Amino acid sequence: MGGVFGRRRAPGRPRRSLGATNVNAAPTVGESMAEPRLVEDYHTETAHKRRLPETVELWDETLRDGEQAPGVHFTPEEKLRIATVLSEMGVGVLNAGIPVVSEEEARAVHLVAHAGLRAHVLAAARTVPRDVDAVIASGATHIAIFVAASQVHLKYKLKMSQDEVLRASVDSVRRAKEAGLHVAYVTEDTVRAPFDFVERLYRAVQEAGADRLVVADTVGIMTPLTFRWFLKEFLLRVRPKDLSVHCHNDFGLATANTLTAVEVGAVAPQVCVNGLGERAGNASFEEVVLGLESLYHVRTGIRTERMHELSRLVEELSGVPVAANKALVGYNAFSHEAGIHTHGILANTLTYEPIQPELVGRHRQMILGKHTGKAAIVEKLKERGLTAPDALLLELLDRVKTETEARSKEDLQRFLHEYRALFERPGLSDEEFWTMVDAVGIRAANA
Ligand code: MN
Repeated sequence: MGGVFGRRRAPGRPRRSLGATNVNAAPTVGESMAEPRLVEDYHTETAHKRRLPETVELWDETLRDGEQAPGVHFTPEEKLRIATVLSEMGVGVLNAGIPVVSEEEARAVHLVAHAGLRAHVLAAARTVPRDVDAVIASGATHIAIFVAASQVHLKYKLKMSQDEVLRASVDSVRRAKEAGLHVAYVTEDTVRAPFDFVERLYRAVQEAGADRLVVADTVGIMTPLTFRWFLKEFLLRVRPKDLSVHCHNDFGLATANTLTAVEVGAVAPQVCVNGLGERAGNASFEEVVLGLESLYHVRTGIRTERMHELSRLVEELSGVPVAANKALVGYNAFSHEAGIHTHGILANTLTYEPIQPELVGRHRQMILGKHTGKAAIVEKLKERGLTAPDALLLELLDRVKTETEARSKEDLQRFLHEYRALFERPGLSDEEFWTMVDAVGIRAANA
């Protein structure tokens, strides 16, 4: 349905996902044929500006970049639990970790790689032989070979020249290809690297056999417009066979940038459940999937109705709470309290909800509180088959408001203080660290 500017779709044509339903009716997606169109969908007006693929292959990074979030650690068994749900939900590729990191990490990757999952299991490696060999030994069928590309990384972190980075990359790609792996090649900080080097490097690894090229916005500084320019230039100059992107959320733009990448032709966007990941995290699994499915009608192959279950599992095992106002999976994402809003929702959910909560395995919540209106009270009474004259309704409403306004915030504040204490100092305490320093004899050696 490629919309041409100025020409609109015929009214009344059913839409796939932006549909409404009455709260009392069984949730359905798509509006009734009999009813005239209730909302416009201007994504059709910009459809000709996008080069959307028919389907995308979601590449999940929760078990690698997600685990690199401060204070997060998954045991091999926990990684398998998350990987199993991701695979059942239809993720194409999942990064199980970096086997060379530790023995436990190698065991985790091995466990996930041998679980018979439907998803392709990938493991990551730096551009050094022993890293690549560790991935080969892990049983993963896919590898992500990574190195950095920007001058600041080369000069201060890798202490390598561009030629050395190129040589190590080509050698590693060849080594992995010879072992029969599907090879993705990633550079950290791609979008802050000199373009001539990016072009030379990525062309070389593609010639060496890399199956998929990944552009990374490692510190999250892209904006949709600049990223669009960068990727178009990349497509033109490198001509990748297959393009993936890795976006960080430092400016809250990870999802927007990832959707932009898919618009210009990326087929394997990288995501993390709950937007977990280094610092402000990665593009979030749920936002990217629902953005593609519900806004652009791109098939992701993901069973979205398990989204909330997945989010809860990762929240539980990572120990990182999902913000109440987080898109799609936060507590407030499908909750309504304000009188005007609940009134609208009760009449037609399309008034204040972009999608049906059931699409991500959730239910709508009507909150009784200070902002509640009469319609919500009437609806609530129906649960027990009760009706009331206006005078009683108003009296009840008054009580609801007064009660919630007077309610103490003590419980929530106690919880917040505990939460802050935990997150202000994750990892080891200073006391624990200095005890270890003594235990290994460093203080004695310095005496
Ligand atoms: Mn990252």
